Amino acid sequence: MILGQVFYSMMNNVKIPLTHPRSVSLHIREKLVEGFRIGAVAYEGLIAHGRGESFDYLLGEKTTKYALDAIRAAACQLLLARHPIISVNGNVAALCSDDLVKLSKTFGIPLEVNLFYRTDKREKAISKMLKKSGAEKVLGLDTKSCTSLPELASNRRRVDIEGIYKADVVLVPLEDGDRTESLVKLKKKVITVDLNPLSRTAQTSHISIIDNIVRVMPLLNQILFDFQKRKKSFLDNYLKKFDNKKNLDGSINLIRGNFS
Ligand code: ATP
Ligand code: MG
Repeated sequence: MILGQVFYSMMNNVKIPLTHPRSVSLHIREKLVEGFRIGAVAYEGLIAHGRGESFDYLLGEKTTKYALDAIRAAACQLLLARHPIISVNGNVAALCSDDLVKLSKTFGIPLEVNLFYRTDKREKAISKMLKKSGAEKVLGLDTKSCTSLPELASNRRRVDIEGIYKADVVLVPLEDGDRTESLVKLKKKVITVDLNPLSRTAQTSHISIIDNIVRVMPLLNQILFDFQKRKKSFLDNYLKKFDNKKNLDGSINLIRGNFS
């Protein structure tokens, strides 16, 4: 829409001038507000987004070379997996359900709704969002096919037998540290997307992509597409060379450098 010489975009009846220095960030916020309005995002999810935003600011709001390296490693790990799975929460669905569903369908990686603040209503709202984006099947909603992860407080341990429970590789974006630690203890390869390189999730995952999920998902789709034509030896070698600790240190040093 054009008003005078200023270009605006409309979201939730909020006019966002495209010239605003935080225009992309404001758009992302509005997506979360919409997700909250339809019951997919929890109050706590809105607060967690604030923590992410602050790190995004410090990272320069772009995909760094460290994030790109981690996205490539994640693509290798997902292509080598026997039973990969993507864990979806309210924030993730609100921010990138189209890209998630595209990835899930193109590469045959199932989606499981798995919530820290679980309610039936929120689970259904998230599943509805994913189905609106084209998902045919969403795991994690049928109590009959669910079981429990050990070592977690009862309301947070539910997982789908056909999904996270049997998976060898789990992509858990925007996840909590306790749950990440429990997946690692169960010997699953854990990939996360987290803007905070210091969080327990980032520190305990095998591959930590320090970047905003909205930038990661389109890139991951593209890299998976490119890498699926590569030989297994290429994927193995990439993973062998990838060092998550060094990669995290790279992001932390980059943030440190951005202060000076
Ligand atoms: P941990 O439990 O791992 O120590 P935490 O308690 O600080 O982390 P949680 O609320 O458990 O935080 O997890 C949410 C994580 O998601 C935060 O680390 C936050 O930085 C990150 N985050 C929020 N929004 C985004 C986003 N859009 N893209 C990537 N990461 C995000
Ligand atoms: Mg936490």
